[in-house]
Amino acid sequence: MTPFRQSISALKGIGEKKAVLFHRLDIFTIGDLLTHFPRAYEDRTVCRSIGEAPGDAPCCVSAVVITPARHTKLKHGLELSKLTVADDSGRLAITFFNQRYAADSLLLGREYVFYGTIEGVGSRKHITNPLFEASEAPPFFTRRIVPVYPLTAGLTNRAFSRFVAQALALTDGRIPEPVPDALRSRYHLAHKSFALQAIHFPASMEALELARRRLIWEEFFRFSLALGRLKQRHTDTAGIPIPPVSLEPFLQALPFSLTSAQRRVIHEIAEDCASGPPMRRLVQGDVGSGKTMVAAAAVYLAAKNEMQTAFMAPTELLARQHFHTISPLLQACGISVGLLTGSMRPKEKHAVLQALESGEISLLIGTHALLSERVAFSRLGLVITDEQHRFGVQQRASLAEKGQSPHVLVLSATPIPRTLALILYSDLDLSIVDELPPGRQPVKTFFVGENKRAKLYEFVRKTVLEGRQAYFVCPTITEKEESASERKAVKQYTELLQRDIFPGLRIGCIHGQMAAGEKEQVMQSFSEGGLDLLIATTVIEVGVDVPNAALMIVEDAERFGLSQLHQLRGRVGRGAHESYCFLLSSHPSEETRARLRALCKSNDGFQIAEADLKLRGPGDFFGVRQHGMPKLKIGSLPLDLPLLQEAQSAAAELLARDPHLTEPEHLCLQKTVSALLSQMEGGFS
Ligand code: ADP
Ligand code: MG
Repeated sequence: MTPFRQSISALKGIGEKKAVLFHRLDIFTIGDLLTHFPRAYEDRTVCRSIGEAPGDAPCCVSAVVITPARHTKLKHGLELSKLTVADDSGRLAITFFNQRYAADSLLLGREYVFYGTIEGVGSRKHITNPLFEASEAPPFFTRRIVPVYPLTAGLTNRAFSRFVAQALALTDGRIPEPVPDALRSRYHLAHKSFALQAIHFPASMEALELARRRLIWEEFFRFSLALGRLKQRHTDTAGIPIPPVSLEPFLQALPFSLTSAQRRVIHEIAEDCASGPPMRRLVQGDVGSGKTMVAAAAVYLAAKNEMQTAFMAPTELLARQHFHTISPLLQACGISVGLLTGSMRPKEKHAVLQALESGEISLLIGTHALLSERVAFSRLGLVITDEQHRFGVQQRASLAEKGQSPHVLVLSATPIPRTLALILYSDLDLSIVDELPPGRQPVKTFFVGENKRAKLYEFVRKTVLEGRQAYFVCPTITEKEESASERKAVKQYTELLQRDIFPGLRIGCIHGQMAAGEKEQVMQSFSEGGLDLLIATTVIEVGVDVPNAALMIVEDAERFGLSQLHQLRGRVGRGAHESYCFLLSSHPSEETRARLRALCKSNDGFQIAEADLKLRGPGDFFGVRQHGMPKLKIGSLPLDLPLLQEAQSAAAELLARDPHLTEPEHLCLQKTVSALLSQMEGGFS
């Protein structure tokens, strides 16, 4: 067994109890331990004499113990231990609080290195609770750059680094090197064993930088290889081509003419479907750019070639809405459309399923219910998923398995920068609808404080008087909190508005805990103009389309992400009316102000996504796990984008030469890539 795969209990000092603490950090093997990277470093390399120690910053001093420790008991169980140490430049008084054991371990006449901030001047220099280790011992937590780990209760940083040091010693000389020599020299990458040593115990900041570069590069490299293999797998399969047909009848049935971006993307789709391996394409576009019609055109193409389409939406609300907009349009072209959602009565479901199996229905729109085993198509040729970040790779795949390598179209909800999209979705081809339908006015967005509330309510009245409708959005109480309190918050707020603020207006409310049928009724009534105001949680975030709604007020706006706010704001400004969005925040921090202002200034979802990405900073990048991607352990985006690009082109080149990574020097890579692949395909909820 490679030392990496060995259990951590192979380390001295890790018994069953300790192991549990490590498991909490997702550390099971030596390899897990060595790839549990520090989240920060503390530079303890500065050494001074007692006389020259700065009074305001920590440093190391080497000094000899000249008086033994004396202990004094104080009130409240507090105990003081005092002793004195000295070097050539002077004396230093040391005080320990409740560390009798530490104080007693310092032996008279021996030299130690102490680390801490030395206060006082001249003969009055003193230090409290310093860290220390014997001068003749190898430097461990003094005189070096010390790693700081993300930890869990019960594990100290010092103990943890000791175990890491032990693991490094245990694996010394046996650390596998997955990146081939040629690539390492070409991309100036340090050796893996050096990198692992230096990332935990860097000898210098330069060494740390080399280690980081190497490890981030490898992480992105593996990730790119895995995505590349995924893509290969699909290009290896033969698709059933959808030959082009005239779209004229479809275009005639539309109540508007398509934008040129829509036309271009439809053309890209048609070409892609017409030949070769099955289409696997992501359609990106800002909120309101009209992705649904692009999808409808694809359905038309498939249906006119006697192929069925499955169209999956993340919520029942959205599935129904798609059904209501798409079905009349396609029906007019002689294409029959069915709807399948979890809340339908068994009898209704049964009828739909039968019609589907017999081929009577050409398009089935629905929620996750489409994934059910009982859903069988007679000739599934196209799979569309809307608002893709809510679905995983696995769900997309299991829907596709209902046909024989059908074409796959993914509509993304959140615009992300093109560079990133190309990488994250490198297993898909990319089409971008980069134009809004004509006449769309940008949503005027303002950030306001609590003091403007009364004025805002006045503005709501005025808007309603003009015949428009408005949304109030309340934050969804965090997922873990009682869902009942969310309902209460929205309901109470609705009651308050109805009773005290807008007694004359028709107000409805909608939230995640309502039954699907109920939600549908409220939405229906709002969309038909039966309600003036809709008080909602983020259930309306995706896709909901009511062109007459021209005003949105977001309560506690600081609790939303920027891209999410942009999505929400996209619920207004969908008709020809001038539209407004007010972001309310009662105690905005400077950071909140900056974030929300960014949103007020821009109406471009791609730009906002980029800003959002930067603000969220390193670490887990915007719900990547939801995309089915593994969490990055060391790289962070967009910060390390250049490394990602490097690694990606290296991966593409390597796969072109050795598609299955079977050459002997790629075997180690092949193993880690396969492991990553099965993680990406299998495991996430
Ligand atoms: P999204 O890309 O956010 O999913 P939708 O597909 O929901 O956008 O379209 C937003 C609105 O724009 C819908 O009301 C739709 O009917 C309308 N729409 C789509 N394409 C056009 C067009 N070419 N001209 C005018 N309106 C359009
Ligand atoms: Mg949409």
